[in-house]
Amino acid sequence: MFGKTTHIIQKNTLTKDDLTYLISLKGDERDYFLKKIGENYVQTLGKKVFFRGLVEFSNYCTKDCLYCGIRKSNQSSDRYDIDDDEILKAAKFAYTNNYGSIVLQSGERNDPIFIKRITNLLKKIKDITDGKLGITISLGEQTEETYQAWFEAGAHRYLLRIETSNEELYYKIHPKDTNHNFQNRINCLKSLQKVGYQTGTGVMIGLPFQTYEELADDLLFFQDIDIDMIGMGPFIEHTETPLYQHKDKLWSLQRRFDVTINMIASLRLLMPDINIAAATALQAIDPMGREKALKYGANVIMPNITPTIHRKDYTLYENKPCTDEGAEDCSNCLNIRVEMADREVGYSEWGDSKHFFSRT
Ligand code: SAM
Ligand code: SF4
Repeated sequence: MFGKTTHIIQKNTLTKDDLTYLISLKGDERDYFLKKIGENYVQTLGKKVFFRGLVEFSNYCTKDCLYCGIRKSNQSSDRYDIDDDEILKAAKFAYTNNYGSIVLQSGERNDPIFIKRITNLLKKIKDITDGKLGITISLGEQTEETYQAWFEAGAHRYLLRIETSNEELYYKIHPKDTNHNFQNRINCLKSLQKVGYQTGTGVMIGLPFQTYEELADDLLFFQDIDIDMIGMGPFIEHTETPLYQHKDKLWSLQRRFDVTINMIASLRLLMPDINIAAATALQAIDPMGREKALKYGANVIMPNITPTIHRKDYTLYENKPCTDEGAEDCSNCLNIRVEMADREVGYSEWGDSKHFFSRT
């Protein structure tokens, strides 16, 4: 039974056709594929799942990505920028709760005041956590000099999703202007690797116009640029964005969810030693979304530790989960969720990408 899937799983080199086949699986053959990947990856990577406390500290953004609820042209977004003291408190919370590391994320800003502020903030976080809390940042496209300054100040992992590796599709979901440039995004990923970051990227899944073949190319792109970490999740439409006009062209939410899980399992087969995050957007579609991702290939989860009053304003898409819970509730809930997925939390560990150490 399911000879083709069995054959692909056993291959040493996966082709675009193989990946397209796996990504588009449905029904019993899909169940069989996911179960096999779930069993195999625990044998190589173990059961540990790493927590990254996520602080979405500001929704001000200078960019205008056509899909994102906090794009600069969305006048109905309530803008906020959390004080440094509150960010430091969140970092301390992560440290005392043995999270191992945090992620600082915001809209993109490139002005010198913002750059300096982040540099100082990174140093302070290192100071108040005895240098022990790992720091990932996700602050968009910056110059190599800025990436270097933030690396020296204490950040050691960076997330910058390519969003899609298909240049034509990229310009269907981003305005074609100097502020949104596909080649620049690739160059940024290369700069991050050069500076020495554990480098993460990812794509949205189920975008209007997107095909299974393009998603297979995305996986091969991750392999080709030798990436260390991936965060990929379903695209979820937001009414106040230009991409909403294409809502009739979208796959159902369930299909976007299923294909995202297929992508995670296929990527685990292709790149066994990278870190893969269970994206929050999965839970906006299925209450058990992140547990399913953990079962079938993901090994990182990001509890939201943003102060609760600001969470509802970081609205990238509709029905964003966990916007009304405090940090404590969020981590208790995730602890249970990890156990439900038959995985264990790797407390106090940075949970670095194994791939990073073999590539450098
Ligand atoms: N501004 C930084 C950047 O773009 O890299 C970091 C923050 S941005 C909000 C983080 C990610 O949110 C993006 O990389 C994008 O993939 C995701 N995102 C934005 N809008 C989304 C949507 N409507 N559905 C799903 N994910 C979305
Ligand atoms: Fe800004 Fe990032 Fe949203 Fe694009 S995806 S509009 S850069 S926050």
